[in-house]
Amino acid sequence: MAAGKLLVYLLRRDLRATDNPILHFLATSRDHDFTHLLPVYVFPAQQIEISGFLKEGQQSPYPQARSRVGGYWRCGPHRAKFIAQSVWDLKETLQKINSGLVLRVGETVDVLSHLLQGLRDKSLNVGGVWMTEELSSEELEEQRAVEALCTENGINFKLWPDEKYFIDDRDTGLDKPGDLPDVFTTYRKSQEPLRERPRKSLPLPAQSSLPLLPDQSVLPPQHGPFQIPESIDDLKACLIKPLGIILSNPPRFPDGAQSGHPFQGGETHARDRMRHLVKSGAITSYKETRNGLLGLDFSTKLSAYLALGCISARQVHEELLKFEDGTEKTYEQADGYGKGENAGTTGVRFELLWRDYMRLCTAKFGQKLFKLSGFTQEDSYGQKWKTANKRNAAPGQQPSPDKISQLLERFNEGTTGMGLIDATQRELFLTGYTSNRARQNAASFLSKHLDIDWRYGAEWYEMMLIDFDVSSNWANWQYVAGVGNDPRGDARIFNPVKQAFDYDKDGEYVRTWVHELRELEKPENVFQAWTTSSAELQRCGLADNIMVVDPLKRIDFKLDRKPRSSRRPFPRKRGGGRGRGGGRRGGNGGGDGSLGRSNEGSSDDAGQKPGSDFKNGQMTNGSTGSQQSRGGGAFRAKHNPAYLYPANNFSNGGWYPDYHMRGRGQDNYYRGGGRWLGHRGAFQGSFHQPMYGPLIHTYPPPPNMHPGTLH
Ligand SMILES: Cc1cc2nc3c(=O)[nH]c(=O)nc-3n(C[C@H](O)[C@H](O)[C@H](O)COP(=O)(O)OP(=O)(O)OC[C@H]3O[C@@H](n4cnc5c(N)ncnc54)[C@H](O)[C@@H]3O)c2cc1C
Repeated sequence: MAAGKLLVYLLRRDLRATDNPILHFLATSRDHDFTHLLPVYVFPAQQIEISGFLKEGQQSPYPQARSRVGGYWRCGPHRAKFIAQSVWDLKETLQKINSGLVLRVGETVDVLSHLLQGLRDKSLNVGGVWMTEELSSEELEEQRAVEALCTENGINFKLWPDEKYFIDDRDTGLDKPGDLPDVFTTYRKSQEPLRERPRKSLPLPAQSSLPLLPDQSVLPPQHGPFQIPESIDDLKACLIKPLGIILSNPPRFPDGAQSGHPFQGGETHARDRMRHLVKSGAITSYKETRNGLLGLDFSTKLSAYLALGCISARQVHEELLKFEDGTEKTYEQADGYGKGENAGTTGVRFELLWRDYMRLCTAKFGQKLFKLSGFTQEDSYGQKWKTANKRNAAPGQQPSPDKISQLLERFNEGTTGMGLIDATQRELFLTGYTSNRARQNAASFLSKHLDIDWRYGAEWYEMMLIDFDVSSNWANWQYVAGVGNDPRGDARIFNPVKQAFDYDKDGEYVRTWVHELRELEKPENVFQAWTTSSAELQRCGLADNIMVVDPLKRIDFKLDRKPRSSRRPFPRKRGGGRGRGGGRRGGNGGGDGSLGRSNEGSSDDAGQKPGSDFKNGQMTNGSTGSQQSRGGGAFRAKHNPAYLYPANNFSNGGWYPDYHMRGRGQDNYYRGGGRWLGHRGAFQGSFHQPMYGPLIHTYPPPPNMHPGTLH
């Protein structure tokens, strides 16, 4: 090996061996002179808590991997486990073709530095360092640091496009990021027909076609006080161990509930999932089912695989092509086989383009992705965001920062009293997944009903989601909060009661996850327990329940018993969740209704600021609402928190200092000393103790998760 030339390939969110441009190039091209290839995956210390890898009695040189605004863990247990599985799966696949994968923890640049030093000590010639490109700020910083280190060491550094998106960046027709239209529909139209756009995927490198894996004996071990476990189970345990108890009052896993996302991480499972979706016909019915809330196959559940690059969008597209063109015998039983594009396959491509678009927004808007004022940066939406941060709160903020802390705790644990929101938040916490419809409602509730700084929500989702993807998460939160690319901005508000009636007609979803409410007879009571009669509350043991006596919001909502003829409530096939308003394509405001997504174009509940009335279901201003609404009047009179429907005082959005990045900032920590200084004001000053509630830091694995979901 001393005479050879080694390439270090730093893997990121390109955890696949098939359709991997770097591996494909190395396996098939003579246009390089690398004799050896060292694929390395680094669990990045700033995004994943790695103190579980410490040797006995050692201290981490890195600060904790916590978010900036809320002080949450950057990566929660569900995703940590999924990443471990994905990495392990890739390691096994690479071993099968006579290569391998080395695992390390730390900041990528530190890992590389240690590696280069160790290889140099053994007189090994490192000729190049390659990695795939990411566009978000932290990742850009990471790749710049790696490049600088390579330059310092006289090593060639190369960034590759990770071709995991639907339309390759080179084919979009955009000359520069700033050319991206601010409205998705405009972009979509510029790219259609979508079926024609993806490039061909690349095959798995043939057996022994890659440059040789260097002998393990020449590789320096993991640096610093860390050690890398030998088995997948130990790897998962190291990742989950430091996370401790995430909520002081966690929901329990309800009897009979089943995770909507029981899937294992890794390329192998991603491809199995994809084939299952086509074979079972789930893809064909996708358009009708994608707004579902319960079950395995109402949507593809490919997001976590796509986020980590276990599968590429064009691989998904090619499976769809095989089905549409009738070229894959194993799909012949599926409805629509060989009959060309159908509404389901169109729908999936449409959503994959949304994913592309959100990433392109990151390229265009940069750090605005993490700013409170969002992409729009408009003062006109002078939302007075409420914060739990005493230092940054406006003088006299109502509710007070302490109260906001409590509200956030209740939002996160799923005891807001708004059934749909509580079910969503519990499902998310317990399984790491919740549907798009549920996410939209939760995000809207936090940002537009409670007026809380939406970044708390984005960070909570970043921690809890199994499919967290920086662009898709943060841009969707912005979108729903009204500061992103929704042409309707702050005018679109979801009424979570109406949404529950539309998408969970009988309350099955809410009953599944909020087990306390299962005995209630009427869906309207399930959706807002405080509307239940005293007698029934007594019968169900709910009279003192916090969701009943102190809901965060009370929405007067009367079900229109005479539905308009054009309106068919979900789950009877409602044309893919076309939203109300007669299933208009696009709805109001330049929406994109070809799939009737309510992200853009549905008229569901749009245009109703809290405090205004609905015709169909009344939604009234706080004080009057608490007197006029049905049922539970006594409770409401007694518990009429001032924060119900806060007055819309849109005078000034500028008092809250914006933070430009997610995660910790430069000013938050020392390198090397391992001392956590706390976020600017996000913590009380003591060791990682956020103001809004106890994030108790203990070491046994979180007992508050469903055991089945954690191994
Ligand atoms: C507040 C909020 C936060 C979100 N956070 C994330 C996130 O961190 N990661 C993530 O992948 N998606 C996120 N989404 C988008 C969407 O909810 C998920 O992609 C989808 O629910 C995943 O389930 P699925 O794979 O079954 O989706 P499907 O409905 O089967 O869609 C197919 C694929 O299209 C993509 N897609 C679908 N909807 C969207 C969308 N609105 N934006 C971008 N891509 C989309 C996903 O890659 C998905 O796997 C978020 C949405 C909201 C409203």
